[in-house]
Order: sequence, then structure tokens, then C-alpha cells
Amino acid sequence: MRFRLARPSVLVDIGAITGLRYLTRDNGTLTIGAMARDSDVERAPWIGEPRWGLVSDVSRVVADPIVRQSGTIVGSLCHNDPAGDWTAVALAARASVVVRGTAGDRTVPIDEFLVDSFTTSVAEGELAIEARIPVPGDRTSGAYLKIERKVGDFATAAAGVQLTLDERGTIRQAGVALSAAGATALRVAEAERVLVGQTPTADLLRAAGAAAATASQPQGDLRGSVEFKKHLAGVLVERGLRTTLERLGVQL
Ligand SMILES: Cc1cc2nc3c(=O)[nH]c(=O)nc-3n(C[C@H](O)[C@H](O)[C@H](O)COP(=O)(O)OP(=O)(O)OC[C@H]3O[C@@H](n4cnc5c(N)ncnc54)[C@H](O)[C@@H]3O)c2cc1C
Repeated sequence: MRFRLARPSVLVDIGAITGLRYLTRDNGTLTIGAMARDSDVERAPWIGEPRWGLVSDVSRVVADPIVRQSGTIVGSLCHNDPAGDWTAVALAARASVVVRGTAGDRTVPIDEFLVDSFTTSVAEGELAIEARIPVPGDRTSGAYLKIERKVGDFATAAAGVQLTLDERGTIRQAGVALSAAGATALRVAEAERVLVGQTPTADLLRAAGAAAATASQPQGDLRGSVEFKKHLAGVLVERGLRTTLERLGVQL
């Protein structure tokens, strides 16, 4: 609205619906109510546990502390800015969004929720009421790395990763996603394929990073050229995976 890209004739303020401001962890799901602020996640008592590495990282780098005080996670997902941070994290964490309309609720996997730049599958007359993130298991951790020109800026490039290891240290599940790499946040399915079923090595992380650089489709702008941003995407994925493994106690 500030940039006059949207000029709504009617605004509905959902800010006073305090019943939508909640964070719960039940039955293996972290549920984030539509009015839960970034700062609520940043200050959650459990946020320091290694399993929450991905969510903890992002909760500290969205915009600045003042914006995080009023901005909501669900609002960020609904806004679907191509350079938004929560959308990439939601992809890497395999989140979903519950959307409510007069016909009832529907639960939409994040890959289907993010339709195009600033466009989601929320239809007219519907409200996103909560986001759901599977609670990471004991052998799961992740990381979110973001390059920004200065504090409070949107990402020049950013990557969210999450890994689950089995008892032998093999990668059982991988989530890899980029921000500022296309029309919406981007799942790097090829990097996930490269990782799953493998024992982590420096070469493997490099291969996953290379897959991310190839998949990234950034726009050249004041923050950097296409080539620079593609390179950053690869570096951030590789570093994010390394940080994740360190959080899981694995040294390469
Ligand atoms: C100075 C500044 C810097 C920023 N930097 C970053 C950054 O670095 N990274 C980043 O990711 N974001 C950044 N943001 C965005 C910010 O993080 C907000 O989270 C984001 O704009 C959403 O804000 P909001 O929750 O108030 O939603 P709003 O701005 O109120 O809503 C955003 C859009 O989503 C829709 N919407 C919101 N909630 C719902 C709902 N429950 N159901 C259906 N539709 C809904 C609204 O109609 C609107 O179209 C920045 C914002 C500012 C002002």
C-alpha cells in the first residue's frame, strides 16, 4: 500500500482477534496462529533447542526488531514476497497453512499455497488462520542463512535447509529452499534428491550447493547481478548444510 501497488477500498483489521495469537506444540506439530508475531517465535522458550535451528535462525533475521514486533508469520506467508524469509523456511520445513472460509477449513501444503509473486491460494472471502510446521525429530536440525545489504533489508540471497539423519548418520530427509531466487521462494528438489540416502561429506554438500546455484532464478537489481546471486545461493546452501550438521554433532 505504501508503494501504491495496492489501493484497497476496504481494509479489514484482524489485529484485534487475540484468539488467533498462539504458538502451540501438540501431537508433533508447531501451530502458529495468524496473529502470532515474529517476535513471539524469537522469544519462545524452546527456540534454543538444536532441532529448531531453521526456525530460530529465521526468527532473528526478518527485517528488524521493530518490524518483528508487529509482523506475523502467517501474514508473511500470505504476502508471499519473492524475497520473503518465512516462505523459504516453510518450504524447507514442509509446512502447511490452514485456510478458513464459509465452506469450512482446508489445509494447504506450502508448495501449493505459494502460487506466484504476492499471490497465494487464499481465495476471496477466506482467511489463513494458522501455519503448521512438523516438530523436528531428535536427529533433525536446520539453518537459515541470509545475505542482506544492511540490517532490516530484504535478502540479496537466502537459503533454508533442514536435515534428518538416521541412526547410522545417513540423511533420511532433506529440505532445501531459496529466497530471492525466483517469482516465489523456491524448493530445490534436485539438492534434496542429491542429499537423501547419502552419508554427509564435503563433496556431497558442495554438490547440493551446486544444484541450488543452478536452480536459482534471481533477478539482477541493485542488490546484485544474476550471476552473483546464483553463486550466493550455492554458497549459502552449502554453508547452511554444514551448520546443520554441526548442530547435529557431525564434523566433516
Ligand atoms: C521495513 C520493512 C522491512 C521488512 N523486511 C523484511 C525482510 O527482511 N524479510 C521478510 O520476510 N519480510 C520483511 N518485511 C515484511 C514483514 O516481515 C511482515 O511480516 C510482512 O509484511 C507481513 O506483515 P503483516 O503480518 O503485518 O501482514 P500484512 O502486511 O497485514 O499483510 C500482508 C498481506 O497478506 C495478507 N494477509 C495477512 N494476514 C492474512 C491472513 N491471516 N489471511 C489472509 N491474508 C492475510 C494481507 O491482506 C496482505 O495482502 C519487512 C517489512 C517492512 C515494513
